Amino acid sequence: MSSPNPSTRCLNSNKIKVKNPVVELDGDELMRVIWKDIKNRFIYPYLDIDIKYYDLGLPFRDETNNQVVQDAAEAIKQYSVGIKCATITADEDRVKEFNLKQLWPSPNIAIRSAIGGTIFREPLIIPRIPRLVQGWQKPIIIGRHAFGDQYRAKERVLDTAGKLEMVFTPEGGEPEVVEVHNFSQRGGVGLAQYNTTESIEEFAHSSFAFALSKKMPLFFSTKNTVLKKYDGRFKNIFQHLYEENYQEDFEAAGITYEHRLIDDMVAQMIKSEGGIVMALKNYDGDIQSDIVAQGFGSLGLMTSILVSPDGRTCMTEAAHGTVTRHYREYQKGNETSTNPVASIFAWTRGLIKRGELDGTQDVVKFAKALEQACIDAVDVDGIMTKDLAYACGKSDPSSWVMTNAYLTAVEKRLKTYFEP
Ligand code: NAP
Ligand code: MG
Repeated sequence: MSSPNPSTRCLNSNKIKVKNPVVELDGDELMRVIWKDIKNRFIYPYLDIDIKYYDLGLPFRDETNNQVVQDAAEAIKQYSVGIKCATITADEDRVKEFNLKQLWPSPNIAIRSAIGGTIFREPLIIPRIPRLVQGWQKPIIIGRHAFGDQYRAKERVLDTAGKLEMVFTPEGGEPEVVEVHNFSQRGGVGLAQYNTTESIEEFAHSSFAFALSKKMPLFFSTKNTVLKKYDGRFKNIFQHLYEENYQEDFEAAGITYEHRLIDDMVAQMIKSEGGIVMALKNYDGDIQSDIVAQGFGSLGLMTSILVSPDGRTCMTEAAHGTVTRHYREYQKGNETSTNPVASIFAWTRGLIKRGELDGTQDVVKFAKALEQACIDAVDVDGIMTKDLAYACGKSDPSSWVMTNAYLTAVEKRLKTYFEP
């Protein structure tokens, strides 16, 4: 159920031909507004591209009873590359605000479960913008295993004496009982958590495929010294799949794979110069990705990519949301200084993947030139949005520009590389 988009295809012999379609997923609020500008300034004028458009804005999700999300996920599976604008994840307040038929689930979670795989968050480095962790010169990319463990645990408060046991009944077999703890009168707490072999394997495959595509070393972390069986199984699956499927390619690419204890890893991460991919279990990834995002400065410079286990399908987006607070200003008619960089990079990273899959170097070159234009506008021209000026310690309004002025600066830079 793709909704109409007036300019999905622009035919012009001067434009760079994108061989196969990309799937565009439109979004909500201020990022929807900026998204349209990005396409009009940087995509349509330069590319002859077939865009399969899906409107994931909350009103259309509601109108289609969320069917558009499933359709979009199917389209990404078909065409391999999805490029997504930030969307609202509905809550009770949004149900009232948009008069929704019901509380629709998060589109990101639906797409992730349709495609499988892992989300990697990558910060963009602009030399002029200082990092909180000063040693970081290159990106630290975090892939979080977004299934199971604490997030699917069953937990109980136990308020009396008694025995906590864990029971596993093999299909057609006898129950196996493990005593966990014998509680005294004051009781305590208990939980059981799990993961599946299939999900761990998918996580491992996505991580190896992603590190290979980035040509960056991969570290996988667990606490297998404490959880010898649980985390030990994760470690062994990674090691086995590495040796079976990836070691040769890693060596040929000059990159390495290592397992590290999580506490050792976070210390290494802080004192490193970056340039690594970290695959982390669900809870570790939840926490570490926020630490890394903060350490690199602004949410406006954090990108996100969902990579399927075979590494052939991806969906790119900005890691931030629809920036509601700025949208309220926009609704009052005020211009805002919202950073569009991560959303532009959603397009460029998707186009690079498209170009690599199609073997079209000129598409890759264009996307990289657009990335360079975004960086040079800040780094060389010193033109930036408020979040980046603040990251530089400047709070004087003369040190930043509105979103439109920044986009114009990027456009100017890009035109020195390409004449449409
Ligand atoms: P948000 O949109 O990421 O914004 C939180 C704050 O971070 C903003 O108010 C702003 O701070 C700063 N910020 C984020 N992106 C920025 C940018 N590009 N440029 C400048 N500043 C930026 O998170 P939220 O306000 O919690 O969520 C808003 C909506 O987005 C929610 O409906 C949520 O469900 C959704 N969301 C979607 C995704 C996704 O689609 N992947 C991810 C996260 C959230 P200041 O106001 O201090 O300037
Ligand atoms: Mg979190």
